[in-house]
Amino acid sequence: MDIFDKLELLANSAKYDVACTSSGADGNSAGGNSAGGSAAGTSGVGSKCLGGICHSFAADGRCISLLKVLQTNICIYDCKYCVNRRSNDIKRSFFTPRELADLTIQFYKRNYIEGLFLSSGVIKSPDYTCEIMIKTLELLRHEHKFNGYIHAKAIPGADSALLQKLGQLTDRMSVNIEMPSQTSLALLAPDKSKNSILGPMGFIKNGISESKELAIYKGAPKFVPAGQSTQMIIGASPETDSHILKLTESLYKKYKLKRVFFSAYIPVSNDTLLPSTDTQPPLLREHRLYQADWLMRFYKFRADEILDDSSPNFNPFMDPKCNWAVKHPSFFPVEVNKASYEELLRVPGIGVLSAQRIIAARRSHSLDFYNLKKLGVVLKRAQYFITCGGRKNEGLIIKQDNILRSLMSKKEFDMYKDANWPKQLMLDAKMLGCEDAEQRQNGKVLKLPSTDGVVSI
Ligand code: SF4
Repeated sequence: MDIFDKLELLANSAKYDVACTSSGADGNSAGGNSAGGSAAGTSGVGSKCLGGICHSFAADGRCISLLKVLQTNICIYDCKYCVNRRSNDIKRSFFTPRELADLTIQFYKRNYIEGLFLSSGVIKSPDYTCEIMIKTLELLRHEHKFNGYIHAKAIPGADSALLQKLGQLTDRMSVNIEMPSQTSLALLAPDKSKNSILGPMGFIKNGISESKELAIYKGAPKFVPAGQSTQMIIGASPETDSHILKLTESLYKKYKLKRVFFSAYIPVSNDTLLPSTDTQPPLLREHRLYQADWLMRFYKFRADEILDDSSPNFNPFMDPKCNWAVKHPSFFPVEVNKASYEELLRVPGIGVLSAQRIIAARRSHSLDFYNLKKLGVVLKRAQYFITCGGRKNEGLIIKQDNILRSLMSKKEFDMYKDANWPKQLMLDAKMLGCEDAEQRQNGKVLKLPSTDGVVSI
């Protein structure tokens, strides 16, 4: 097999890993008509689905393109959800460290890529695999003097001395948590264990904080300076969205992860333990998880506020923030001239930037609805949930249908109507109308819960 055949095979085998930003995108560009990941036979140029290149964000916020490839797709493990599993009869190949280092540097010099995303099947043993990956990165860093971005996968079960070496050669590392529970992991990835995943995650976390402490000394070696991330497969096992979200929150807290990536399960094998091969990947569920993840990272939501035991799965018709708002009418209306930053963030139509602008602008003058529009607030949504100087937006008609229409796309609203969604989504429009704005002063306002709870996994 020549080097380009290897590249095609090993880049394709890596495409299911979503621990970078553009992975998992579908083939439908806004203006294009590409389908199913192949540009062949379409009139557009370019595809987001072909293996080979993915995108990530550097520490300074720049979007960078990475060569995403496996060192090898040979694997001694038999994870049932994985196309590279031992029992799958597919073509196998292997890049020697020199082949992959040379290929990467050539692509870099031609401006095809700005960095490398390196993962691997487990060949011979976790330690052996890790050694091969280290060798590749040493050639790149030391011989080719490559200073670009490198993201490497930690191989579960590899020795910590090897992880230490790998971490000193990379900008970011990730250990895939794979399944949302220990039971599913034992069932679907019998060669992996909770400890073989969380152990390296803990090791990397400690290494990063030690490295930050040592950074004051000139020449101190850096360890994973862009932090660590993980990936979880969604829809291959029966866990609820609430369970997945609590686990995600816990991973952020305990392991200081930069990102948790969710990957809608794409059926690649006929196994009675897995959804059948004609099952569609749960893309809406994956999307809702990313929305909820965003709320936890930037909007100060807790997992158990977004979903709980009484509604353990996402509302398919409404994003999690709007869903929270319609389920908590007693929290509203929020008076924009007095509310705290945290309270503003709970209002549909007010984002991080507009909340910051409101706080800054109201220091010099009180705000009206016209001002809010200028500050970037999406009034179409927000007007039902706020007051300015104790007043609602002039001419606002508060009807349940109007509110729901403003919070859903037309398609979602039509689907919701047809589906006759149960009371869960019914909202108290009268309460949102809140002629009794006094209720805030009367202490009936729903308090924001404290954010110090840690969920154990
Ligand atoms: S360890 Fe499991 S998930 Fe990773 S390549 Fe091997 S079979 Fe696939």
